[in-house]
Formats: sequence, structure tokens, C-alpha cells
Amino acid sequence: MVVVDKESSLKIVGMIGGEEAVKIVGLLLDKPGLTDEDVSSMTSLDIKDVRRVLHRLNEVGAVSYEVHRDKETGHRIFRWRVQQEQLVGYAKTLIRKVLERLKARLEYESSNQMYWCGTPGCGKYGFEAAMELLFRCKTCGKPLTIYDNTAFIENLRNKIAELEKLA
Ligand SMILES: [Zn+2]
Repeated sequence: MVVVDKESSLKIVGMIGGEEAVKIVGLLLDKPGLTDEDVSSMTSLDIKDVRRVLHRLNEVGAVSYEVHRDKETGHRIFRWRVQQEQLVGYAKTLIRKVLERLKARLEYESSNQMYWCGTPGCGKYGFEAAMELLFRCKTCGKPLTIYDNTAFIENLRNKIAELEKLA
């Protein structure tokens, strides 16, 4: 069983649902089993926003609810709690997606000679794209020359290694 502290849980929640979600989950971590009405009055967020965020978090398994029936009114009451383990699972899925993208980029950068005009902010081109442009930058018009991407590749490798520790 993976135990995640409150701080990292909230970071993950922020990625999924933004600031409102961080408020709501922060509260539910301290007081599990609150209803949407409780959450709304304690965070002063609109009840509609609270429900929207809770359902979104529920879709990714980050929170769960139990349905109770109000003895007086007979209405259904939802009591919410945070699923910290599922949160970790979700975070790992996100990390794996980022890793895939970085690895594809690394593969591309390592197997393609890149061309660049030297102007900061202008894009880099693969050989075919550079040839089509007759080795002139599309943005600033300066000549494109071979770009040494060793440092960039090294940077990518480090990022990948870092994320692989978390995945
Ligand atoms: Zn340029």
C-alpha cells in the first residue's frame, strides 16, 4: 500500500481540477465524509461548482461517495471521501504519458540532424523541412545551419531518468 502525504495529494489534485479542487480535497482529507452541502458552506464555493469538481474527481477515482438517505426529508445525501491510493495511480498514469512523449522526442532528436537559424525563439527544423525551406528560417529568414543538439538531448535524458524514478 502506497501512502501519500497530504501535500503531494493536493499537488496531484491541483493538476486535475485546479484551485477549487485543491480547496475541496484539502477539506475532505481533514474531514472525510462531508456532504456536498457541508463542503460548499465550509469552502464558500458555490454548491454547483463543488458538485462539478467532485464528479470530475470521482471520474478519475480520486474521490468516492456513499449514498445515505435523510431520515426527515427522504432525500439522498452524498458523503465524500478522498481515495489517496487512486490519486497516486492517477499521478503515475500522467507521469507515464509525459515519459512517452519525452522518449519519442529523444528518439527524434537522436536520429535526426536538426537545423537552426541561431535566433532565440525561432524553431528548429529536421533535414527535410530545412531543405523545403531552402535552408532559410521560416520566421526570420536567416540561413539555417546544423544545430548541435547534444546539450538538449542530455537534458531530455536527465528529465526522463528523473521521471522514471517516480513512475
Ligand atoms: Zn529564425
